[in-house]
Formats: sequence, structure tokens, C-alpha cells
Amino acid sequence: MTNCIFCKIINKEMPADIIYQDDKVMAFKDIKPVAPVHLLIIPKKHISLACDLELKDREIIGKMFLVAQKIAREQGVSETGYRLVINVGKDAGQTVAHLHLHLLGGEKLPWA
Ligand code: AMP
Ligand code: ZN
Repeated sequence: MTNCIFCKIINKEMPADIIYQDDKVMAFKDIKPVAPVHLLIIPKKHISLACDLELKDREIIGKMFLVAQKIAREQGVSETGYRLVINVGKDAGQTVAHLHLHLLGGEKLPWA
């Protein structure tokens, strides 16, 4: 999608601190981190919202979680713990309409 900032990152039209990518998934540092480790894991295919997911996307979703697991290990938060978050829509505060999994860690995380 031409107006989507995450698609622009995927297409190398916008810079990002990319820490992982393969043919289906990309991960990069959040530009405004809210925890010492704050990464975003995204599908390379443009999917706007988690509620738009279809059965055929199940491999991509599985992959996103496996990439999160790998990155958590590499970032040293696997043992201490971390949080995986997907905001869906307005009430959850989703600001970028390209599906993304937040990986947060590196400190004791407040809840609600
Ligand atoms: P959400 O509120 O769940 O939609 O999260 C969007 C996240 O994307 C926020 O945490 C932003 O800080 C982050 N973000 C927005 N633009 C960029 C960018 N160009 N590079 C990296 N992260 C970004
Ligand atoms: Zn997009």
C-alpha cells in the first residue's frame, strides 16, 4: 500500500533499524520505544488489522510469533520475560494500519 509507512519500510523507501527479515516477515526497532526493548514484527504482506486476518494468513501469523521468540532470545529477554501486544483499531490505540506485533521487555512492565 503506497501510503502505509510500514510498507514504505519494507520497500526501503523509508529508513528503519531492521533487525530481522525473511521473505514473509520483518522486524525493526520502534521509533518511540516505551521499554528498553521495543521491537515491531510485521508481515511483509499488507494486512491492516488483526480482525482482517483470513485463514490463508495463518502461516504468516505463526511465523511472526516464531520470529518474536527468536528475537526475544537474541535480545536477552527470553529468560526475564517480555510482552507481545497487538493493538486492534481505535479503542486499542492502533496508530499504524499495518498489522504489527509489539515485543516489549528489558524491565518489569506495568500492566493496565
Ligand atoms: P500502534 O499504536 O499499535 O499502532 O503502534 C504503532 C507503533 O509504530 C508505535 O509504537 C510507533 O512508535 C511505531 N512507529 C511509527 N512509525 C514508525 C517508524 N517509522 N519506524 C518505527 N516505528 C514506528
Ligand atoms: Zn502496509
